Amino acid sequence: SNIWQQKWVIGNWKMNGQLQENNSLVHKLRSFQTVPNVCIGITPPTVYLLQVHNAVQIVLNNPIYTCAQDVSRFSEKGAYTGEVSAEMMRDVGVDIILIGHSERSLYFNEKNDVQRQKIENVLKVGLIPLLCVGESLKEREDGREKEAVAYQLSVFKGLKTKNFAIAYEPVWAIGTGKVANREQIADMHQFIYDEVLSLCGNDANIRVLYGGSVNDKNAADIFSVPHVDGALVGGASLKYEAFAAIINAAQ
Ligand code: PGA
Repeated sequence: SNIWQQKWVIGNWKMNGQLQENNSLVHKLRSFQTVPNVCIGITPPTVYLLQVHNAVQIVLNNPIYTCAQDVSRFSEKGAYTGEVSAEMMRDVGVDIILIGHSERSLYFNEKNDVQRQKIENVLKVGLIPLLCVGESLKEREDGREKEAVAYQLSVFKGLKTKNFAIAYEPVWAIGTGKVANREQIADMHQFIYDEVLSLCGNDANIRVLYGGSVNDKNAADIFSVPHVDGALVGGASLKYEAFAAIINAAQ
């Protein structure tokens, strides 16, 4: 069925994984052959993308999407040591590419202009960008959380392609065990919908995922919040039982 009507559960492994443990995790996840209306994604470190793509290939009914954590801002092949292009990612079977995760701005000082270039590169090769947005604790305390998110979302302005996903990840909720409450999530997701549709047109296909300390205990509650179209899961996606429970909570 149409992924733009499904709940997405995307595991972001960050800089974790090894050949053997990746294989065993993916093999267990392949048992999810009949989860209706849930789109499952796995986001391994770049060097394991091909491994994960090959391992999920065998799933017939319920595909598991291969996602990348980042991509080069350069679109043409050439002398860019250390970089991996969107085209190369498509070549090895990637479907979705995360852009602008808060750890990218925290450790690599990535800003809007670079994120915009990356989104354009992803769209150009026909893949789906998943832009991560979210306010810092200071911005929330100052009541400027919407302003912060609106600024991050402005990278979508004027884009011609209309298929993309957004993850709302308040920075203070990432890896902290501190989840945003229902009102905060509902309020921000509604805001993101309104903002993106006004930037890109009402005919845009969008999914808005929540991220930040999602686990097997709180997932069902988060999925029941209006305008929550899924979750971007960090820590809990590394353990089969927890990730499986989150997938089940999404249906
Ligand atoms: P977390 O990470 O689930 O470990 O909080 C979420 C993310 O950074 O995508």
